[in-house]
Amino acid sequence: MTTSLPTPTLPAPGLRAPGIRRTGGAASSASSCSPELTTAPWTIDRRGPGYGPGASQEDRAPASAPVQGPVPEEYRNLDEDQLHARITAAKEALGERVMVLGHFYQRDEIVTHADFLGDSFQLARAALGREEAEYIVFCGVHFMAETADVLSRDDQAVILPNLAAGCSMADMADVAGVEDCWAQLTRVLAEEGGSLDTPDETGKVPVMPITYMNCSAALKAFVGRHGGIVCTSSNAAVVLERAFEKAHRVLFFPDQHLGRNTARAMGIGLERMPLWSPGKPLGGNGNTVASLEDSAVILWHGFCSVHKRFTVDQISAARAEHPDVRVIVHPECPMEVVDAADESGSTDHIRRAIESAPAGSTFAIGTEITMVSRLAAEHPEHTIFCLDPVVCPCSTMYRIHPAYLAWVLESLVAGEVVNRITVPEAEAADARLALDRMLEAVPR
Ligand code: SF4
Repeated sequence: MTTSLPTPTLPAPGLRAPGIRRTGGAASSASSCSPELTTAPWTIDRRGPGYGPGASQEDRAPASAPVQGPVPEEYRNLDEDQLHARITAAKEALGERVMVLGHFYQRDEIVTHADFLGDSFQLARAALGREEAEYIVFCGVHFMAETADVLSRDDQAVILPNLAAGCSMADMADVAGVEDCWAQLTRVLAEEGGSLDTPDETGKVPVMPITYMNCSAALKAFVGRHGGIVCTSSNAAVVLERAFEKAHRVLFFPDQHLGRNTARAMGIGLERMPLWSPGKPLGGNGNTVASLEDSAVILWHGFCSVHKRFTVDQISAARAEHPDVRVIVHPECPMEVVDAADESGSTDHIRRAIESAPAGSTFAIGTEITMVSRLAAEHPEHTIFCLDPVVCPCSTMYRIHPAYLAWVLESLVAGEVVNRITVPEAEAADARLALDRMLEAVPR
């Protein structure tokens, strides 16, 4: 049933994922982190804000988190084959007017309909690549759809099939908290009466903001206004190198682990990476202002609950059972896990490592279970398993169910745009500055 996907060399219009369907997944597993993973997302939508079952189920969603109303009953009553047929027919009816983007962490039943499959960096570029598309249907999470809206033309509509597909990590930093942090850092790190954006006699600014792609458009706009750059897990090292050409330090948010792992790989010591806990005076560094003055990377206290699940013990167990195993983890994992692994890299790095390995290789992977399951199905010549034995997908990626995709596509066929994601133009203009710098920082 499952076949290998084409390499998502992007942008490459026309790249389509051939028929991948129903290779199993969280809902079919007996050993999962929540029994609710067997239920349909609309049963959760009725309960209002929250990330839903999965890795982020214990995280606190902000009151501002978008809520999705239940998908129309007609779609709730369709079985998987009927949904597949209706999505296929709607896409055919729309033709080149629609482009469906799919993140690596999406369900197989969604990926099979994606024109482009990739990580957040690749999908951001793909959003630029299909000029004739009037509609970009983004099968990913909210911040990715916002990014696509910022990068696409005004007459292109970006659609998120389920508005409740947010990201708990992205929600760990908001504009008010980052503005407050910036004001406090200005008091301790800027010249008297100056700003963090003003270069000193060396030509460098005191602090440059760097945000991981996983944040709101409003925060990308903040970064753009202050001369900073957006990064992804693919190009974080290149972005940090560029930042240090112009700044003495960076404020890195929201993911502390990506920031720490990337900076340490560049040779920056942990003593130069203080943690900023939002809501605390000086981010919890009140008694040690020197740690801010001596810092190179100020790390925001954010994390991904999917990648936080991976542990050194899991790696030890994998090595005990498979002495020749190659352990690859995502850089959103905690530092000690990255240290214990053989290598770390973005989702695209993981995919390419598996594709280029000699047949008969064994991989233990530390990233989202849906992607690992798909890679295992696509590469029967290898042994591939997820480090975490408990099936616990990303709560929000999982909320893009085929019923929502069928609904938004058939609505487009009927001439109605539902679930459009729109970033106000003033915000988009600033965010575009930071995103353009990101696109220039091509991963090595
Ligand atoms: S995997 Fe983590 S960072 Fe990615 S969307 Fe899910 S919660 Fe957010």
